[in-house]
Amino acid sequence: MNLLDAVDIPSLTIIKYPDPRLRMPGETVTQFDERLHALIEKMFELMYKGNGVGLAAQQVGLPLRLFVANPTLADDDERVYVNPELIELSGTAEAEEGCLSLPNLSVSIKRAAVVTIRAMDAEGNVFEETGEDLLARIFQHETDHTEGRLIADRMSPIAKIANRRLLKELEETFASS
Ligand SMILES: [Zn+2]
Repeated sequence: MNLLDAVDIPSLTIIKYPDPRLRMPGETVTQFDERLHALIEKMFELMYKGNGVGLAAQQVGLPLRLFVANPTLADDDERVYVNPELIELSGTAEAEEGCLSLPNLSVSIKRAAVVTIRAMDAEGNVFEETGEDLLARIFQHETDHTEGRLIADRMSPIAKIANRRLLKELEETFASS
């Protein structure tokens, strides 16, 4: 059975740290049907509403290997990555990163500078793409999400201390919701 059959796609929202659904490793997507397309459309809508440049299925509470992105926020720059795999990483780059599931958090994170990703498009066609700078960062940040990893796990010890209060506030908000 397709996991999406039981999901009310229009009512999906972006979930926040420390919701345990953000920790679920994604299942491989095998059905490239209209339910998947509806989910992708909904994810773009939520991503734009949150002023983000990427959004993974885990962030709407679904354990799937899938993310959407739009690094330039231009109409013709919408990208879909199904079953993503990072197949080549090189160099290092450090930059500030945020996440729609960790509102107000902005931390400096070291990532590979150039990344080649292999994924499928919304129709199930395999492609490979090499990105650098922001796009390379999106590939790594979002693929992390599809494996249940968050930027909170990648922060330096100093950043962890600096952001302890913010994380605690998010934990308290979640506990009382
Ligand atoms: Zn994120």
